[in-house]
Amino acid sequence: MIFGGYACMKAFVVRHERPVFSHEKSQDDVQAKAELTRYEDACRSVDETLHSMMSACDDQERAGILEAQCYMVHDPEFASCITHLILDEHYNAPHAVETAASRVIDRLSSDVDMFRQNIADIQDISSRMISHLTRESLSNLRTLDEKSIIVADAILPSELMGLDPSLIGAICLDGGGSTSHVAILARAMDIPCVFALRDASRRVRHGALVALDAFKGILYTDPDEETVARIGKARSRLEREEQEMKEDAVLPAITRDGVTIHLECNIEGLDFVEGAIGNGAEGVGLFRTEFLLMGDHEYDEDEQTAIYSELARRFSRRGGVTIRTYDLGGDKIVKDLAVDEDNPVLGWRAVRFCMSQRDIFRTQLRAVLRASASGGIRIMFPMISGVDELDDVLSFFDEVKAECRSQAIAFDEDMKVGTMIEVPSAALVSDILAKRVDFFSVGTNDLTQYTIAVDRGNEKISYLYREYHPAMLRLLSLVRENAEKAGIGLSMCGEMAGNPDLIPLVIGLGYRRLSMNPASLLAARRLIRGMEYRRAQELAKQALDMTSCRDVEAILEKFNAETRDNQ
Ligand code: PEP
Ligand code: MG
Repeated sequence: MIFGGYACMKAFVVRHERPVFSHEKSQDDVQAKAELTRYEDACRSVDETLHSMMSACDDQERAGILEAQCYMVHDPEFASCITHLILDEHYNAPHAVETAASRVIDRLSSDVDMFRQNIADIQDISSRMISHLTRESLSNLRTLDEKSIIVADAILPSELMGLDPSLIGAICLDGGGSTSHVAILARAMDIPCVFALRDASRRVRHGALVALDAFKGILYTDPDEETVARIGKARSRLEREEQEMKEDAVLPAITRDGVTIHLECNIEGLDFVEGAIGNGAEGVGLFRTEFLLMGDHEYDEDEQTAIYSELARRFSRRGGVTIRTYDLGGDKIVKDLAVDEDNPVLGWRAVRFCMSQRDIFRTQLRAVLRASASGGIRIMFPMISGVDELDDVLSFFDEVKAECRSQAIAFDEDMKVGTMIEVPSAALVSDILAKRVDFFSVGTNDLTQYTIAVDRGNEKISYLYREYHPAMLRLLSLVRENAEKAGIGLSMCGEMAGNPDLIPLVIGLGYRRLSMNPASLLAARRLIRGMEYRRAQELAKQALDMTSCRDVEAILEKFNAETRDNQ
C-alpha cells in the first residue's frame, strides 16, 4: 500500500511505450496514395473524438485545450509535412505522423516564444493518430475523461499534476516507491494508490472493471459481485471513519502528558490549501514550489508573488508558510527545463540548478521577498550539501535583497531563512550550518535515499529503504542536537513525519514540529493525542541503541501494538 482506500470502476491502462509499427516504405505511388487516405481517416477520427470530448467537457480551460488540439490536427505545417513524407518520401502513415510530430516539436522547442502547451498538443494528437492507425489502445493520460482507476507502468509527477483529480478513482503502478514524488502527490490528492504491482499494466485490459483494496495492495481484475459489494461496503465504512476524524481536526495535537506537537502540511500548490486547512494544518512547513513549473503555464514574478501572498494570507493565523525554493531535478522533471543526465538524482538539481540559472532563481527570490512584506513567510533552500553551497546561496539571496531595497521594494527584513537537511553531508556538518540559518527542516525522503544509497523510487530495492535505519537515527539525533545547541528552529518534512508507525519514534527523537502530507494530518493528530511523550522518548532511546533495522522494526512493532491496544 502507498495510500489506503477502496475503489471499483473501469481501468484506464497507460503504458508509456509507443505503439509498435513497421517503418517499411510504400512500394509505389498507388500504395502511397492509400497511406494518405489512411492518414486522412485518422485525422477525421481524431477530430471527431476531440469534438465529442469537447462537448462533454464542462471545464472551460480543458475545453479550450481540446479546441486548440482540434485546430492543430489540421495545422498546415504539420499536415503538409505528413503529406510530403507520405507522397514524396513514401513513408507509411504512422511513421510519417511520428516523424512530422518530432520535426514540429524540435522546431517549437528551439523557439523560446512558443508555449509548452503547443508541444504537448502535438504529442497528444500525434499519439491519437498513431493509435488510430495502428489500432492500439490509446495510452495517453491526457485523454482520461471518465472517472477510472489508472493502471500504469509509471507516471511522472508532472503528468499527474495535469489531471483532474475528480477523474481518478485510484492509481496502480507497476513500479514506484512510497516516497517518490508521484506517491506524495497522489496522497496529497487523496487518491488511493498501490505501487510495485510488477506487470499490472500488461495484465489489466483497458476499460475492464477492476476493484482495488489499497490497504491490502490487491487489485481484482474482473471482480465478481461479492467482491464489488465488499469493496463498496469497506469504502462507505472508511468514509464514515474519516468524517469522524475530521471532527477532531480543530483539536490541538497534545500528548497525554501535555507536550504540544505542531502539525503543519506539505503542499504543492494553492489547490491543496482547502483540504489541508480542513484537516487542521497549523501552517505550511513545506511548499514544493517546483510543482508550479510543471503545468502548462509559466508564472512570472507578479504571478508568483500573488500565489505566495495568497498562501501566506490563508495561513496568516495558522503559523505561516515555509516556501522552499525550486527543487527541480530527480523525478521532478519540467519539460522545457529538462536536463538529460545519466544520474539526475545526484546531478544538477535544486539549488545547484538554480544557482546556474540565476534569472529563474532571481525571479523566484524576488517574488518570495515581495510576498513577505505582509509577514507570515519563511524561505528555505533544498539539497544544501554543505557550508560552501549554503554560503553561496545566502550571498545570492543577499544580492537579491539589496536589489529590492535599491528599487524600494518592501519585504520582511526579518524573514526567517532555513535550510533543508536532506543530504548526509549537511547532517554531518549541521553544527556549522546551524550558525548560518534560523531553522532546519529535515527531508527524510532524500536523507534516507542518500544515506542508504537506495533510490526512493525503485521498488526492486524498496526493502532497503528504511527511514529508521540505525544510520538515519544517528543522523536525526545529531541534527536535533545541533539545532538545539544553536537555539534554532527544527522541523521534519519528509514522509517519515506523517507515518503513524514512525511518529512516536520521530517525536521521541525530539522533533516537535512535523510537516506532512495533508492526508496524513487527521491520523497523526489522533495518534499524538493518544500517546505519551515520555514513552516516545523511551522508545527513541531504545531505538538508538539498536544495531540493525530488524531490531528497530521489532521494538517499533511492539510499541505500536501496545499503543493500538491502549486506544
Ligand atoms: C524530502 O526529501 O524529504 C523532502 C521533503 O523533499 P522532497 O520529497 O520534495 O524531495
Ligand atoms: Mg527532498
